[in-house]
Amino acid sequence: MADGGKQQEPEQSGRVHQGRDAVFIGGEWRPAVGAERVDVLDPATEQVIGHVPAAGAQDVDAAVRAAREALPAWSATAPGRRAAVLAAARDLMAARRADIAATVAGELGAPLPFATAVHTDMPTAVMGTFADLAAEHPFEETVGTSRVFQEPVGVVGAITPWNYPLHQIVAKVAPALAAGCTVVLKPAEDTPLVAQLFAGILAEAGLPAGVFNLVTGFGPVAGQALVEHPGVDMVSFTGSTAVGRAIGAAAGGAVKRVALELGGKSANVILPGADLARAVNVGVANVFANSGQTCSAWTRMLVDAERYEEAVELAAAAAAKYRPGERLGPVVNAKQRERVRGYIRKGVEEGARIVAGGPEAPEALPTGYYVQGTVLADVAPESTVAQEEIFGPVLALIRYQDEEDALRIANGTVYGLAGAVWGPDDETAVAFARRMDTGQVDINGGRFNVRAPFGGYKQSGVGRELGAHGLAEYLQTKSLQF
Ligand code: ADP
Repeated sequence: MADGGKQQEPEQSGRVHQGRDAVFIGGEWRPAVGAERVDVLDPATEQVIGHVPAAGAQDVDAAVRAAREALPAWSATAPGRRAAVLAAARDLMAARRADIAATVAGELGAPLPFATAVHTDMPTAVMGTFADLAAEHPFEETVGTSRVFQEPVGVVGAITPWNYPLHQIVAKVAPALAAGCTVVLKPAEDTPLVAQLFAGILAEAGLPAGVFNLVTGFGPVAGQALVEHPGVDMVSFTGSTAVGRAIGAAAGGAVKRVALELGGKSANVILPGADLARAVNVGVANVFANSGQTCSAWTRMLVDAERYEEAVELAAAAAAKYRPGERLGPVVNAKQRERVRGYIRKGVEEGARIVAGGPEAPEALPTGYYVQGTVLADVAPESTVAQEEIFGPVLALIRYQDEEDALRIANGTVYGLAGAVWGPDDETAVAFARRMDTGQVDINGGRFNVRAPFGGYKQSGVGRELGAHGLAEYLQTKSLQF
């Protein structure tokens, strides 16, 4: 995901959206029922940059009612008309590029070039793909004596995390709207500002009132109320495996459809004969992008014993180029910073060797939630830092003996979201990738594709996002026999 989007330089500096003290329900901004607010911090300065309401169950109820009310008309709207609204939203996102980038840079702490090229341009491109898919998709087919219709699932409750704030929202809301569903979104409490910008864009694009509703607030309050609301037909969640498991259980108990995009511990497998320098450099960039806060990051680098020490040296040299405060932004909040540092210490306790970075605060950066870009060598495949998702700029280098050993290590976690294989040729790499228990694998440096299905095997999730497969998540079938 880190490689996604068009690589254009930001031309203008935008304005940070400071937050609106309102929720967006039924086509209008209105005060939340309670007075509680969420303070939004800039992780680079630790200063409050905005506020949004911390909505409660009554707000969620009003939003779900608005979404239900809007459902019959929107689901009956011709797909071509739905496509036109999504295309208008894409154009508005492109026009507001500088403001979106500045807002994500502010609330997530991402360096502005990355906030522009990835956090803004990638979701804009994704919105465009769903505008195209809404227009192209065959919502009707003939199967023998039957006509089969693909119809919207209904009201979708979408719950998103902070790591790619706008991308995660668009990856749910765009296909849901393309399918003819209506939506209530509960974005992450750390990054709600860009969600408010997005709500404004959808309204301006001509989306009818009630089709999209936004309730900001905390997970165990607003998020839980949305999951449990009987008026919600489907819950689409991206976040931690711990919360995803609870949401899946609640949704399953109510026989709601559920889509879960959860954690990862993806393997970057460098086979003998691969271009080692390229594989290591791209691998380090993949892990350090977005300060390591990418669920699909290749956080375990697997290298054969013969070239292992050479890979360690290359990785340490590559990591040294990521200076905190410049190319490497802060992590999202103080809690995450302490968590990531704790994992680095734990790695050392369990026998790993620090070859770049470390758990100490970066020098000369007293303010901001920064963690040094860290490379751990000699990591044992079963150790904590090789098994658990750290969600920070920490790479674990693991040595393997032969291809079977590499496969055992690659498949030896509870996760299976992504990965990479580098081989002497594509055929060798593909043969290995086909044996990996994971949802997405980049072959010899293949780039992120916004139309390719994205999602997990094993405990990395249920369902797929993006492209035609992502659209299908929001559709159910009806067959008429003749
Ligand atoms: P992360 O580690 O990315 O913060 P979380 O799983 O904690 O992951 O959060 C992802 C999203 O889920 C956020 O929008 C958060 O508010 C929401 N969330 C957290 N707890 C719950 C819950 N119990 N029910 C519903 N949503 C929740």
